[in-house]
Amino acid sequence: MKQEKQNEKKENNGGTNPASTIAASNFIRQIIQKDLESGKNNGNVHTRFPPEPNGYLHIGHAKSICLNFGLASEFSGLCNLRFDDTNPTKEDVEYVDSIKEDVRWLGFNWEDREFYASDYYETLYEYAERLILQGNAFVCDLGPEEIKDYRGAPTAPGKESPFRNRSIEENLDLFRRMRSGEFAEGSRTLRAKIDMTSPNLNMRDPIIYRIMKAHHHRSGDAWCIYPMYDFAHGLSDSIEGVTHSICTLEFEDHRPLYDWFLDRLNVPCHPQQIEFARLNMNYTVMSKRKLLELVRTGLVSGWDDPRMPTISGLRRRGYTPEAIRDFMERIGVAKASSVIDVALLEHCLREDLNKRALRVMAVLRPLKVVIDNYPDGQEEELDAVNNPEDELAGTRKVTFSKVVYIERDDFMENPPKKFFRLSPGSEVRLKFAYLVTCNEVVKNEHGEIVELHCTYDPGSRGGEAPDGRRVKGTLHWVSAAHALDAEVRLYDRLFSKENPDESNEGEDFKDCLNPDSLDILTGCKVEACLADPQPDIRYQFLRQGYFCADSRDSAAGNLVFNRSVSLKDSWAKIEKKSGNE
Ligand code: ATP
Ligand code: MG
Repeated sequence: MKQEKQNEKKENNGGTNPASTIAASNFIRQIIQKDLESGKNNGNVHTRFPPEPNGYLHIGHAKSICLNFGLASEFSGLCNLRFDDTNPTKEDVEYVDSIKEDVRWLGFNWEDREFYASDYYETLYEYAERLILQGNAFVCDLGPEEIKDYRGAPTAPGKESPFRNRSIEENLDLFRRMRSGEFAEGSRTLRAKIDMTSPNLNMRDPIIYRIMKAHHHRSGDAWCIYPMYDFAHGLSDSIEGVTHSICTLEFEDHRPLYDWFLDRLNVPCHPQQIEFARLNMNYTVMSKRKLLELVRTGLVSGWDDPRMPTISGLRRRGYTPEAIRDFMERIGVAKASSVIDVALLEHCLREDLNKRALRVMAVLRPLKVVIDNYPDGQEEELDAVNNPEDELAGTRKVTFSKVVYIERDDFMENPPKKFFRLSPGSEVRLKFAYLVTCNEVVKNEHGEIVELHCTYDPGSRGGEAPDGRRVKGTLHWVSAAHALDAEVRLYDRLFSKENPDESNEGEDFKDCLNPDSLDILTGCKVEACLADPQPDIRYQFLRQGYFCADSRDSAAGNLVFNRSVSLKDSWAKIEKKSGNE
C-alpha cells in the first residue's frame, strides 16, 4: 500500500517539496562587499576562471565557475575566462574547446575576455629579466633531483644552490641563452632568490622557468622555456586587472609567493588571492588525472560517459545547468573542506526536472497483456496530462488498444499481502485508460510468464469506476501496436566506495569501480510521442524516473534513453529526518 501511494505521489510531483534557496552570504561575498565600501580597486570587481586545458571540466570546476562568474555578475563586475596553458606537454585544443562549451552551457558568458597565459609569454619573460636585474632571480645548473635534495623538508631548512650568487650579467646572459635554445632540457632553470630556510617550502628559491623543447598548442615552437604556474598565474591575473583571484585551498601556501612576485615587480595591479574549500563529493573521483585514466583505460566510454562527474557527462546524463547552479548555491562556499553527498546533487536535479519534465509512459521490462473483451481492431485516443506541475504543458493523446504492455514486476502470480498491483483476480487502473482485471496467466514451456489475459470495465474510461469502487493500484502501460522500441540505460554510482581516493594498501582507485554502474535494457517499449526526442527535452517516464535521449547514440528509429535520475529521493528523506523541510 505504502509503495503504491508513493508511486502515485511521485507521478504527480516527483516526491519532494521545493525547498527555497536563499542566496546565502559567504565569506568571499563579505570580503568583496567590504572592498567596495572602502573604495578599494576603484570600486571594481574583476574575477577570472582559470582552467588548465589538460582535461575536461568536472563538477568541482563548476563550483569555481559559478563562484567566479556569479560574484562578477552579482557585483556588476567582469569575469574572464583564462586558460592557464603553461604546460605544453599535457594540453590540447580539444580541451580548450570542451571547456568553452561547458562554461557556456552552464549559463555564463565571458564576452570578449577569452585569454591565454601563453599570450603573455613575452611579457612574462620581460618580468623574469626584471627579477634578474633586481638580483631577485638566478640561473641554476642543478638537475631536478639535486634541486629536490637541496630543498630540505618542512622541518629541516634547505641548502642554497651553489649557483645562487652568480652575477646579474651572467644570469642575464644564461637566461637569454636558455631562451635561444642553447641548453638541453632539464639542464638549467631560472629560480627566484628568496629564502632556503623559509618554513614555507614554496618560498625556497622556487623555479620560475624551465627548459622544455615541446610544441605548444598555441605558441607553437616559438618557445623552449616555459614559465611555472606560480609565476605565470599571479602575473596573468595582474595583467588582466583581476581584483579578486579566487582559488582553492591548496594554494593557500602559495599565496606568499603570489604576493612576492607582484610586490617585487611593482605591477600596477595587485590582485588579492582568496582561497576556498574545493568541492568533494562521495562515490566519485574529481582529479583530472584520475578521470583521464578512466578514459584512457576504456573503463568508461569517454569524458562524456554519463557516469562521469564531468560537466559533459552530467549534460549527457540529462542534468540541467539550472540544477547544477542550484546545487552550488545550496552547498555554499567555505574555508573548511567537507564532502558533499551526491544525493544532494541528485535532489537538485529532481526538483528542477519535476517542474519541467514531460510525463510519458514507457515500459522498461515489458509483459504482454491481452484485453479479451476489448473489440478486435479497435483503438481509441485517450487524454493524458503532460505535466501536472505545469498547466501550460497541456495534454496529449495516447492510443489504447486490445494488446498492451505493462511492467513485468507490476504483476505477481502469488503476491504477498499489500501488493496492490496486478495479480490473478485483482483489478488495477491503467493510467488515463481503464480498470482491468486479470483472469489468466499464460506460461511457456519453461514455466515463465509470457502473457496475461484481462478483461476491462468499459464504463471506466479515464480510469474511474462507474460505481465508485476503489481501485488502489495504477500502472503505466503502452499499446503494443503503437509503442516504439527503445534501449534504456540505467546508471548507478561509478564507484561503490564512498571515498575511492582513500584506497587501502595495494588497492587502486580503479579497484573501487561499481561493476553495476551501467544497466542496459533493450526491448523497452515507449509511447509513440517519443518518436524523435531531442536530447535537451527531459521526460519523466511515469514511476521510473527522469530520462533524456542520449545525445550520441539516439536517433529516430534507434531510440536510446539515459536515466538521469530515479524518482526515489534519498536526500529529501535525510532532510525530513533532520527537520530541515
Ligand atoms: P584537478 O585537481 O581536477 O586536476 P585542477 O585544479 O588541476 O583540477 P584547473 O584546471 O587548474 O584544475 O582548475 C581550474 C579552476 O578550478 C582552479 O581555480 C581550481 O582551483 C578550480 N577547481 C578545481 N577543482 C575544484 C574543485 N573540486 N572544487 C572547486 N574548484 C575547483
Ligand atoms: Mg590546477
